[in-house]
Amino acid sequence: MNPTSLLLERLGALIQQSVRDDAARHGLLPIHVQVLHYLSQANSYSDLPIAIADYFGITRGTVSQTLAVLERKGLVAKTPDARHGKRVHLGLTPAGAAVLENSWAERVDSALGTLPLDAALLGDALRGLLVALQRINGQHAFGVCRQCAHFRREPEGARCGLTGEPLASAQTVRICREWSAQPAAPAAGPAGDEHPA
Ligand code: SF4
Repeated sequence: MNPTSLLLERLGALIQQSVRDDAARHGLLPIHVQVLHYLSQANSYSDLPIAIADYFGITRGTVSQTLAVLERKGLVAKTPDARHGKRVHLGLTPAGAAVLENSWAERVDSALGTLPLDAALLGDALRGLLVALQRINGQHAFGVCRQCAHFRREPEGARCGLTGEPLASAQTVRICREWSAQPAAPAAGPAGDEHPA
């Protein structure tokens, strides 16, 4: 086995333990904290129960039960979609956002800040690994809007090339269930091809 695979296994186990600790501190289950984290990052195409089911690979029934607990505890609120009749968007209440303060994600962020490496390069490598594993597992790839193949930057702002809708700036740094990987850059030709005389 590649030693990197073992490192990833250890990191995954440590993060899962941290999620369990965060949840226990607030009298919640790990899936409750994970859904709160997800909703804090999801864009307006993805803050929906069906997207939560896709993201975590859980049933709609489990999502309904999870959301019922989070709503009852005042951590999540529903907002009707202005254009699509029955659709409701899910968002964190101030109490829900407070649960995520000092969470495992902040601890990982501060540990990353101590490493003598380029966090963007590490992020690119991990994203590539994630997309590859999601393909192998037949799962939907979720990714940050600005890094999507459909993302269009226009003089008056950003636009989704898939739906044709304009994108508010805050939405472009969130994750989306419709995300598609950028096509791989063509391999460089032999030296000399790049700079024809
Ligand atoms: S550009 Fe991609 S990630 Fe952004 S909203 Fe459109 S489909 Fe989603």
